[in-house]
Amino acid sequence: METLERPALEALQLQRLQDTVRRVERVPFYRKKFLATGLKAEDIQCADDLRRLPFTTAADLRENYPDGLLAVSRDEVLRLHTSSGTTGKPKALFFSRRDLDNAAELLARAFCMTGVTRSDVFQNMMSYGLFTGGLMMHYGAEKIGCLVIPSGPGTSERQLMLMQDFRTTVVHITPSYCFYFADFLEKKGINPRKDLALRKAFVGAEPYTEETCRKIEAALGVDVYNSYGLTEMNGPGVAFECEHKSGLHLWEDNFVLEVIHPITGEPVKDGETGELVLTSINREAMPLLRYRTRDLTSIIPGTCPCGRTHRRIHRITGRSDDMLIVRGVNIFPQQIERVLMALPQIGRNYVIQLDGLDDLTVTVELSPSAFDGEVGHLAQLQNQIAEKLRAELWVRPKVDLVAAGSLPVAEGKARRVIDKRSI
Ligand code: ADP
Ligand code: ZN
Repeated sequence: METLERPALEALQLQRLQDTVRRVERVPFYRKKFLATGLKAEDIQCADDLRRLPFTTAADLRENYPDGLLAVSRDEVLRLHTSSGTTGKPKALFFSRRDLDNAAELLARAFCMTGVTRSDVFQNMMSYGLFTGGLMMHYGAEKIGCLVIPSGPGTSERQLMLMQDFRTTVVHITPSYCFYFADFLEKKGINPRKDLALRKAFVGAEPYTEETCRKIEAALGVDVYNSYGLTEMNGPGVAFECEHKSGLHLWEDNFVLEVIHPITGEPVKDGETGELVLTSINREAMPLLRYRTRDLTSIIPGTCPCGRTHRRIHRITGRSDDMLIVRGVNIFPQQIERVLMALPQIGRNYVIQLDGLDDLTVTVELSPSAFDGEVGHLAQLQNQIAEKLRAELWVRPKVDLVAAGSLPVAEGKARRVIDKRSI
């Protein structure tokens, strides 16, 4: 399936898309939308007909909470997950037995693709429960035959004990927790390269830059693979980096991929950044048509040297609703992260705060070795960072430097932006 020739892959997509449209005709929400436009399942005859289908948004999911978008009877449902609610109330997603099998299959592909085998020991440090990062990844690893340690987020002390006692080789972790954990190891005097068996980390659930990825690799002595997914589309396993790490292969036998202009809704060209829109074409319980993920990415043109035919997307650069407008300028938090993480004097954590009318303050931790006791040097560094940020953003922020480890670390997803503006 991973190397299926494009024409066969596209034919499979079309057939699954048609099945999906027929399936959602049972859902009142979609039936109403189809009636309004006069669309019938038979009208979907080629890939371009996809664009005749309505978009589905996060608001639609919330308005139809708890089960208004369910396409099967409640008896056929085996599991419920909700999104972590980073941007509001949770969205409820249902899975049938076949849906869960498929979700595990996609993750098993990801494990294989990154060279994980049944001899590996996989410690899943993501939260179990309603969040998909726990259970979904867990079953993917079991499918491969790894020894799975369902540690959940737990304390660093316990994570380390498990890692040492059972010789963990692969972890699944958020980028913000990676740094926190690396600091913890440092304080304990543990050198991950020598003292641990760790080889790989699957890092996802939050956007992070290439620079952050390199910092994580250096701090933990692991090979980092970017793992992308969202609850609405099974959770993790939608797109994953292969051994070439030149973008994330998106499993097109399960999802139809579009990248659109977030305002006009028109497709953008390959290589151009826009909003990722996904249609789940291999779901029974709750397929979604043209779901607006709000995640920003681009389709990477050309083929990957690994031979997989499923197209690749660029790492997510942010969410369209993450964009901050500061003094009339559009700013994405990822732009700030990119500048900060490229500086050796900068540590691992940062917070962006907006106050008053439009005052932007970036608070960053210094790297433990950056401060030589000279206050003058600190002021110089502060100025240097503010200038670099001004060159990138066209707005000069106030920069606050704080000691390593002094900013709060979230157990789940990091909250980087605090907007306290009065307008
Ligand atoms: P919530 O939308 O409440 O955070 P989810 O837990 O379903 O709910 O999170 C999915 C979202 O997490 C994605 O839409 C995306 O914004 C973000 N995300 C997941 N994996 C990655 C990744 N590898 N890179 C960037 N962002 C990611
Ligand atoms: Zn590849």
